[in-house]
Amino acid sequence: MIKHHPHAALMQDYVEGKLPLSLSIAVSAHIELCPYCQQQADKLTAQTAMRSWRDAETSTEPKSAVASVEADFDLQANFDSMFADIVENETAEPVAHKPAEITTVECKGTRYSLPRALRSFDSLSWHGIGKITRARLPLEEQEVRASLLHIDKQGTIPAHTHKGYELTLLLAGEFTDENGTYHAGDFIWLDASNHHTPETKEGCLCYTVSNAPLHFTQGVSQLLNGIGKVIY
Ligand SMILES: [Zn+2]
Repeated sequence: MIKHHPHAALMQDYVEGKLPLSLSIAVSAHIELCPYCQQQADKLTAQTAMRSWRDAETSTEPKSAVASVEADFDLQANFDSMFADIVENETAEPVAHKPAEITTVECKGTRYSLPRALRSFDSLSWHGIGKITRARLPLEEQEVRASLLHIDKQGTIPAHTHKGYELTLLLAGEFTDENGTYHAGDFIWLDASNHHTPETKEGCLCYTVSNAPLHFTQGVSQLLNGIGKVIY
């Protein structure tokens, strides 16, 4: 069961379209896996649309209190019917699929299905060291890097903290660290205050976004440097 969800401010920025693509993909992919956040996103989208509609209304002409209550009722009724139309149209017309999209990836002999938010890339190239493999997404967000990260069975990432933030969306499989065990769909946001050593028994595929290299706490070695380059 999913235990870790995007926090409220991130969800709000997501529905308002304010997130950079790297994080928007993460929230969108989480929502696809999490019925609870799907509901929250629908609710927030409705509230946000209602608010901007009301702002537009009130900015044009001042109204009496009674008129504005009546207008609110009208607004709600209009909005409900508009929302119903949108939902109906969404189910009536299937989304067109681009033929070049990658819908699955294969890592170390296991094939994984990708969430829709991660299917718009026509080619991914994988690099790895030991049990860790990653494919960076071509998002061009300067220091922010987004990747698909695969850790093979019995693999581990050496103990580290983060100089910036590290977002991990677990897409498939499981991993465990000092804070517990994570399952597919978990949305894990860590920063410099978190120190952990992720390891997986069965292997896992994650989508990760970070804005700085990891800081390994076991010292510096060529192996750690290599792992650091693959992960960030
Ligand atoms: Zn959720």
